[in-house]
Amino acid sequence: MNNKYKILLVEDDEHIRIMVGAMLESAGYQVIEAQTCATALSLASSHVPDLIVLDLGLPDADGMTLLQSVRERSLIPVIVLSARSDETDKVAALDQGANDYITKPFGAAEFLARVRSVLRFSRHSADEGRLAGGKFQLRDLTIEYDARRVFIGSREVHLTQTEYNIVALLSESSGKVMTYSAIIKAIWGYPDSGSVKKLQVNMANIRRKFGVSPGQNSYIINELGVGYRMDGE
Ligand code: CA
Repeated sequence: MNNKYKILLVEDDEHIRIMVGAMLESAGYQVIEAQTCATALSLASSHVPDLIVLDLGLPDADGMTLLQSVRERSLIPVIVLSARSDETDKVAALDQGANDYITKPFGAAEFLARVRSVLRFSRHSADEGRLAGGKFQLRDLTIEYDARRVFIGSREVHLTQTEYNIVALLSESSGKVMTYSAIIKAIWGYPDSGSVKKLQVNMANIRRKFGVSPGQNSYIINELGVGYRMDGE
């Protein structure tokens, strides 16, 4: 592979760093390593990686601080490695702009699938086909942004305005988990006690209209307790 993706791996635990570095290198990626926030920040600006894999518990600062600094200056995709199973940390990281998270311990297959997915969507997000006015395509699902029309194959899916807005929003960030609160803020502008329920009802209607049967690949994946993701895998 001549044109390798460059991945910045930020992890202070040597055992995990070596293991994850080996997973990435065996999959053909070029890996740059950092053990602290400070080193990671300087490597991120000098090397401009295609992806940052970020451990949240670092010796000199919290990984969330690094995530904020990276997001202030770039859209480099970030996958958070979290030892914490606490949902609030995942939600906080996603709300700070992380593209995905994975909880330790994890296997190579699952991790590399997330890496591929994040890289694919971040690369495609620059394509004009995904911008407003264009078309979005994910397997049989087509969204015509200009006309606000949605198709599964050749069948038009008749969505309400709110349902369409949710589908379009998820498609614009496809591959990335959007938290419940981020979706609610974007669609309704304000949260209230019934917002999550309202979102779930809309989502159930969308799935029903998409006609995805159980066991089939669905276009929208529910990350339980966290949010929703439109995915291509
Ligand atoms: Ca750590």
